Amino acid sequence: MASEFDLIARYFDRPAAHAVLGVGDDAALIRPGPGLDLAVSADMLVAGRHFFPDADPAQLGHKALAVNLSDLAAMAATPRWALLSVALPEADEAWLAGFARGFFGLAERYGVDLVGGDTTRGPLNLSVTILGEVPAGQALRRDGARVGDDLWVSGELGGAALGLRHLQGQLRLAEAEAAACLERLHAPEPRVALGRALAGLANSAIDVSDGLLGDLGHILERSRLGAEIELAALPVPAVLAARLPAPLALACLLAGGDDYELCFSAPPGRRAAVQAAAHSVGVAVSRIGHIGAEPGLRVRRPDGGLLDMEVTGFDHFA
Ligand code: ADP
Ligand code: MG
Repeated sequence: MASEFDLIARYFDRPAAHAVLGVGDDAALIRPGPGLDLAVSADMLVAGRHFFPDADPAQLGHKALAVNLSDLAAMAATPRWALLSVALPEADEAWLAGFARGFFGLAERYGVDLVGGDTTRGPLNLSVTILGEVPAGQALRRDGARVGDDLWVSGELGGAALGLRHLQGQLRLAEAEAAACLERLHAPEPRVALGRALAGLANSAIDVSDGLLGDLGHILERSRLGAEIELAALPVPAVLAARLPAPLALACLLAGGDDYELCFSAPPGRRAAVQAAAHSVGVAVSRIGHIGAEPGLRVRRPDGGLLDMEVTGFDHFA
């Protein structure tokens, strides 16, 4: 049976074009460019908690990296280097080949070098550490929102959560609808270019990994402010729009995870610039509300009333 070293050499040791030293020594060596801050983040995917143990390995490879790229996107950083730590129940080479294909497929598209990691036997667990560069002081942070800022979100919300509910048997989607939602769930596209384009325009940003209310709540908490958003302004895929306002659809939209869109705030005077930046990278953005001084997060219904967060259970997320 292949040793840990054979597996690393076969599946993870690729030339690192942008590192001083990549895989193979006790540590990698990287050299950030002058005048750049290093953005560093880690995200772990655990079998049975974040994915089904029999999930497609190529999709897992993609997603393990994508969720990390999404964190750097939310900081307006350019991803450069990744470390990958994997625990595997067995040396399943077909699984490793698929995983590496998904991982490097995405890594190559974004110019990310895999420069190190760890490989061990154990319950299936995938942990990626990502490092990227952002011009000094330009990172978008959660604590930068200002009173009066517009709130924006990229792409569409709720599709991935709808796909998960479909897999869990909580609802039935038609085949084509299911395929689109599962693509969102299994192969999210991190908004890296949008994040970079928003540097200097947005005051704050976060990626929507756990659901809009919860993640926007983190911006409000760190910025010590409140917000109001309009249900009718939220961008939803048609498959979800058709099911609103059923509680399950509302939950997917407001509190569904795995969208990996960006939620950000920017001054109203920059509306045109935000639209132009989004257009330049080919991503749609929607203006969904605004930041206010009054603490808390309010969701306005299409009829003008406020969504009762306690009745709906959404107060846990806001
Ligand atoms: P050490 O015992 O010094 O920690 P290892 O034998 O664990 O070294 O790893 C050897 C080399 O392979 C190191 O450069 C390490 O960063 C790299 N490596 C190990 N596992 C992975 C992986 N899954 N992906 C990328 N690089 C890896
Ligand atoms: Mg080691």
